Amino acid sequence: QRLSNVTLKSLPASVQRPIYDRTAVTPGIVHLGIGAFHRAHQAVYTDTVLADGDDRWGIVGASLRSTDTRDALAPQDGLYTVAARDGDGERLRVVGSSIDQLVAPEDPEHLLETMADPRVKVISLTVTEKGYCHSPSSGDLDEGHPDIRHDLAMPGSPRSAIGFIVEAVARRRAAGATPFTLLSCDNLPANGRTLKRVVTRFAELRDRDLGSFVADEIACPSTMVDRIVPATTDADRQTVSKSLGLTDAWPIMTEPFSQWVIEDDFPAGRPQWEAAGATFVSNVDPYELMKLRLLNGSHSTLAYLGYLAGHETVSDTMSAPGFAVLISGLMDEEVTSTLPQLPGIDLSAYKTDLMARFSNPALRHRTWQIAMDGSQKIPQRLLNTIRDRIKAGAPFARLALGVAAWIRYASGVDEKGAVIDVRDPFAAAMRRQAESVTSPTELASAFFNMEQVFGTDLPREQEFRSAVEAALAQLMRDGAAATVTQVISP
Ligand code: NAD
Repeated sequence: QRLSNVTLKSLPASVQRPIYDRTAVTPGIVHLGIGAFHRAHQAVYTDTVLADGDDRWGIVGASLRSTDTRDALAPQDGLYTVAARDGDGERLRVVGSSIDQLVAPEDPEHLLETMADPRVKVISLTVTEKGYCHSPSSGDLDEGHPDIRHDLAMPGSPRSAIGFIVEAVARRRAAGATPFTLLSCDNLPANGRTLKRVVTRFAELRDRDLGSFVADEIACPSTMVDRIVPATTDADRQTVSKSLGLTDAWPIMTEPFSQWVIEDDFPAGRPQWEAAGATFVSNVDPYELMKLRLLNGSHSTLAYLGYLAGHETVSDTMSAPGFAVLISGLMDEEVTSTLPQLPGIDLSAYKTDLMARFSNPALRHRTWQIAMDGSQKIPQRLLNTIRDRIKAGAPFARLALGVAAWIRYASGVDEKGAVIDVRDPFAAAMRRQAESVTSPTELASAFFNMEQVFGTDLPREQEFRSAVEAALAQLMRDGAAATVTQVISP
């Protein structure tokens, strides 16, 4: 039997479930990109708000790409399980906040009508870094992006998240409805400001008035989001369905930890997410810097080095010789000094927690998954930290090793000579670059020419070039496992 409204009552008593009347819930949020992370994070906070009795915040989720999430969730009335796992066991919660699932390419008009519904007050997004159609190093809209060119030519049937948002803004404006708030929940620096910049520019390119309207009227609070959510495997589907006694076609695996820090700028109103543990602040920047640099910077470094050393998951990598020492050294010696003081945050406790979270044996978070889209992630996770270290005249060997490991990985062939399935908007170009060079120095130089990633400043820093070149040469000569043990005991 399938998980659904009707079968909910047969769940074992230990499984948390929606105890509110789901038929009374009305749409208040449209979420673009209903992937695993959204379903383990924002949807869970919203589920608590609905359970507290405020039924105005049902989530209509939209996928801008594939039909898979809708196909899995629609037959189960949008219900799915979140399994929070660590070494001590597993807690299951069935989440009821997703009230409808749309597939944008099938019917863009239906999604636009829903976004223009005056009851909708928040449009939230997890569309991955590349979904913003911007240059990660400058933050500007990529005006030559094929989806952006399409959406400017055909604004009424968009493809990109940016195109949908701006068309929905235009329709609400024409109908005299209050503007919605845009809430980016992706791992981008200043995610709200970045989103505002690209939507404003896109609107301007459509029509100057619409550009001014977006600039003046659309609030885009920034957020810091944190919960580790690996992709679900078939084995996960089976074990969760067995525990439920019902089939769940797409449960979500995660850790017990969850954090959400949000700038409190919602002119049209918002759910009381603080009741579910979210923190509202006036400026999210310091929290975001802490998270991008400590968590995501370490995660990417572990992913590239771990993958190259032959480890499938982050926790396997953490238990291999030298890696845990490397990562705690990276955080303590190279990242911490670049972070501002945060009242109420104990950075050493935060770092201790991170080491435990990375080592969580119950989360099979694949190094390959985190390695994806490196060209979009490396700037905010590692390169900006390096910029601060250079300014301070401080060393950054471990960060440089992380960057070199990305280059080694993105060149597309592993240490045994096998092809790596590199998923990245620049995968093909990076592979070609790698094939056209003969030495680590040339390989590094070819990558440094990617202005979207390195900007124009870093490639001019001799210290940066030498550190990355040396680490890359060592990786190519000795392999990742030996390089890590050498770096921690020079
Ligand atoms: P996922 O693969 O489960 O889902 C990705 C979603 O993004 C899908 O809905 C997909 O259709 C959509 N998407 C991909 N490319 C797109 C594009 N170009 N335009 C529009 N939509 C696009 O991945 P996930 O685990 O849900 O992660 C999504 C994002 O959430 C990450 O990129 C990151 O910014 C953020 N995040 C994830 C985690 C995590 O642990 N998984 C933690 C913090 C933040």
